[in-house]
Amino acid sequence: MKLGIVGLPNVGKSTLFNAITNAGAESANYPFCTIDPNVGMVAVPDYRLQPLTDLYHAKKTTPAVVEFVDIAGLVRGASKGEGLGNKFLSHIREVDAIVHVVRCFDNDNIVHVDGSVDPARDIETINLELILSDMEHIDRRLERVRKSAKADKKLLVDVDILEKLKAHLEEGKTARTFPGLADDEDVQRVMAESDLLTAKKVIYAANMDEGGFTGDQTENARLAAVQKIADEEGAMVLPICAKLEEDITSLEPEEKEMFLSDLGLTESGLDRLIRVCYDLLGLMSYLTAGEQEVRAWTITKGTKAPQAAGKIHTDFERGFIRAEVVSYDDLMACGSLAAAREKGLVRSEGKEYVMQDGDVVLFRFNV
Ligand code: GDP
Repeated sequence: MKLGIVGLPNVGKSTLFNAITNAGAESANYPFCTIDPNVGMVAVPDYRLQPLTDLYHAKKTTPAVVEFVDIAGLVRGASKGEGLGNKFLSHIREVDAIVHVVRCFDNDNIVHVDGSVDPARDIETINLELILSDMEHIDRRLERVRKSAKADKKLLVDVDILEKLKAHLEEGKTARTFPGLADDEDVQRVMAESDLLTAKKVIYAANMDEGGFTGDQTENARLAAVQKIADEEGAMVLPICAKLEEDITSLEPEEKEMFLSDLGLTESGLDRLIRVCYDLLGLMSYLTAGEQEVRAWTITKGTKAPQAAGKIHTDFERGFIRAEVVSYDDLMACGSLAAAREKGLVRSEGKEYVMQDGDVVLFRFNV
């Protein structure tokens, strides 16, 4: 899963990104080598990994990972090539979802590019740049499809949808709010083929002050403004304090727990962010466990066993015979795989089996 962090300058993107890369650097068992300074990897928190590692006396534990890309440089006029404009827009095209950081915190020492803190205006500024870029994209696509439709009348459906989509964007609305996305298969198909920036799922990360969670009225009003926009778009809001997250990543695990519980929290904002993104994208994890390694693998909900096996290796998918599956809870309750087997809790599943969150799996395959 790849997430892109966007937002205006000075809203806290780098601060959040630092928190992410620090957290990633901590997890020693993963090759978190920095290929690109703008890419950070973090482990997907999974409470099942440690108990499973203990049960199997596994030499290695490998969590599922999320890749974050810091897409700085998005400013007013980006779609016209202002700042580093178009280059950054193309980076957004490659991500699965967008984390849009919005400034809600006050600090007179940190200038806001537009002179004041106003989350609704900021969101509109960024979204407008993305919409403008999408409009260009749709124009080009529409031209192509119109030409092809002369020979292939079936494509007239596409032309009609693209024209409506264009008009929708021209009204300053994001593609993700286009009517018919929920239930019209043609709309869904055209949207998927169009690869639009504003069709991507988005989480608004409302960057609050350190004291923001304690009920500052001005900040809460800003948060409400973000929530209102998100509601209209069917998007999600995550209040976060980037600065606090950066501080937390430098703490030892026990210190971190104490620090969070003092704030009345059970997990860090970063962990929450990853969880929310997982939900948003309809993802889940299954596990493989053995003496060598206990590992979590990310799949989309509804994935069948052979495709899940393909995440490990394409050979596993091609030569798939069956999957031996036990739920994490059953396995832990029995205390060992052998005991679970005796109780008939280890199932042999075929090609049509739909994977469940927390399945502990052994794939059987032909090579
Ligand atoms: P970017 O331009 O969006 O990457 O913004 P930065 O992450 O560089 O943040 C700009 C400034 O705002 C820095 O001085 C940060 O320390 C500060 N900042 C970021 N997040 C917070 C926050 O949650 N609370 C406060 N008070 N300051 C923050």
